[in-house]
Amino acid sequence: MRAVVFEEFGREARVREVPDPTPSTAGAVIRVGATGLCRSDWHGWKGHDPDIVLPHVPGHELAGVVEAVGPDVRNWRPGDRVTVPFVCACGRCAACAEGAQQVCERQTQPGFTHWGSFAEFVAIEQADVNLVAVPEELSFATAAGLGCRFATAFRAVVGQGRVAPGEWVAVHGCGGVGLSAVMIAAAAGARVVAVDVSPGALELAKALGAAECVDASAHPSGPVTAIRDLTGGGAHLSLDALGSPATCAASVDGLRRRGRHVQVGLLPAAAGETVVPMARVIGLELEILGSHGMAAHDYPPMMDMVRAGTLRPDLLVTSTITLDAAPAALAAMGTVPGAGVTVIDPAQRPTEED
Ligand SMILES: [Zn+2]
Ligand SMILES: [Zn+2]
Repeated sequence: MRAVVFEEFGREARVREVPDPTPSTAGAVIRVGATGLCRSDWHGWKGHDPDIVLPHVPGHELAGVVEAVGPDVRNWRPGDRVTVPFVCACGRCAACAEGAQQVCERQTQPGFTHWGSFAEFVAIEQADVNLVAVPEELSFATAAGLGCRFATAFRAVVGQGRVAPGEWVAVHGCGGVGLSAVMIAAAAGARVVAVDVSPGALELAKALGAAECVDASAHPSGPVTAIRDLTGGGAHLSLDALGSPATCAASVDGLRRRGRHVQVGLLPAAAGETVVPMARVIGLELEILGSHGMAAHDYPPMMDMVRAGTLRPDLLVTSTITLDAAPAALAAMGTVPGAGVTVIDPAQRPTEED
């Protein structure tokens, strides 16, 4: 099969032929219909993820068709349209037994713990635990983002964040996860303040339902005062959807009394320790929560809202590229402030212009 492979961290990846994967006894091989380009892939490529062993194929936001299954798989067969959470669970540990597969003790993550979906095929472990059916009316490009940014945002806003109609919700960082969170919080009846340094990202946030936008680059001392002013004292719920010490602190500082901060953006060790303003957490009785993906069995309420058109993940996808264009796009994730989401279609071949 063709795959995007990198041999060294931070050196340009190449598209080349590699052996096709085969399913493990309880696993499946998926023919990739579409795979999202995510900042986590960029972190992995830069060497910020200790799980990655070289050479490596990135990619963890995927949808496609089951190509083959192992002998122990009961619920899936070749031809099924599927997606997966980016955290694939073992199905047997104490966390899985509690239904908390998103924090499985023996989790696998395609594109991190093993080769991922920037390829024609990808292997997924424990298919019965991790595969999620994708309805016919949902394109693979749209479904690809559900496993990472959209499901993560859904659980952060609705599950961990317990959003309620009429609340002020601040979203720090309007990349893939942040824009998803803006849409989901707005659909839940909240008033959303979108915060970013990119005017393009804020424009998209507005189009997806943000009531207010704060351009953090226009505020040298940070966006907190602007957020408190807009929300009459602070947000009820605030998400750090980017993942940086600065956005985490701004998210906590922008909360009102008894507000809830949800950390969604990953905080790579390379960025240093993240200092949380704990004095404020005590004085204002704030809640600090983490959100790490979403278990496959928690997908149905989100899928229902997507099918009903209440949530429109399709609106987040702003470009589709070929596998051959993926290495350059991956490298650019570190420098180009993204507005919207790029997906890779491995079946699409370069045209004359590429
Ligand atoms: Zn992702
Ligand atoms: Zn487990």
